[in-house]
Amino acid sequence: MKPRVAFFDFASCEGCQLAILNCEDILLDILGLVDIVEFREAISDTSPRYDVAFIEGSINREIDMERIREIRARSTYLVAMGACACMGNVQARSNFIAPAENYKAVYGEEARNRVQTDETYWPLWSHTRVRSIKQVVPVDFELRGCPVQPAEFLALTKALITGSLPYYPANAVCVECKKNENECVLAQGRTCMGPITFGGCNSVCVNGGHVCDGCRGLLPHANIQAHRDLMREHGISDDLVLNRYRLFCSGEEIGKGA
Ligand code: SF4
Ligand code: SF4
Ligand code: SF4
Repeated sequence: MKPRVAFFDFASCEGCQLAILNCEDILLDILGLVDIVEFREAISDTSPRYDVAFIEGSINREIDMERIREIRARSTYLVAMGACACMGNVQARSNFIAPAENYKAVYGEEARNRVQTDETYWPLWSHTRVRSIKQVVPVDFELRGCPVQPAEFLALTKALITGSLPYYPANAVCVECKKNENECVLAQGRTCMGPITFGGCNSVCVNGGHVCDGCRGLLPHANIQAHRDLMREHGISDDLVLNRYRLFCSGEEIGKGA
């Protein structure tokens, strides 16, 4: 019997699932090895047990918390897939804004007044905190990035079903950036998360003329204070740096700006 693999989505853009679906060669490779038993983007089947459950998206509501706990209970391995699932991503910025102000920003003043006065809307207030998956249930592995890299997905899936673990070297994006001989954007006074961000993307954003926004998450033992000091040395304000911390990593400690 082939291992049963399932995909679930919570608050997300579904881009990670699409990134995998768009790689038909990888899917064909996977389909030869496993049974995909749940994948809302592609099939309507369901299953009571999963050998590997891939989770996309952040946890925003009480019903999401119940659902992820149930999935965890039915799964041997649970993998957080993408920056939303691993770190809360940009939606976790709402953790720093009062719920009523969120509604006003997104739906306008009239909608805010309505949800404040009509008690049928009050259960919506329970989504006042956005969480990553590991903040709710134990996570066995994380697939990094926004979106995830299909090659890393394939390597992890093959490893899990053969009882081994893939090796991801904990190098900063800066290491790859230097190898690619990019001019460092700090010299231009631009904020960059590369020194504290988990590499593995071949510094793709800097190669293309952008900065690293940190979508692959923080390195273990990342020295946040040294990163702040480095940004200050280059004349980059603390506000700008905090803004960058809150792009992908709002759900992490770093997003609190402590
Ligand atoms: S990590 Fe990025 S691509 Fe993946 S679901 Fe979240 S927003 Fe979309
Ligand atoms: S541009 Fe960013 S990733 Fe590249 S070396 Fe400079 S700080 Fe590091
Ligand atoms: S360079 Fe930074 S933002 Fe771009 S993919 Fe790599 S980790 Fe993500």
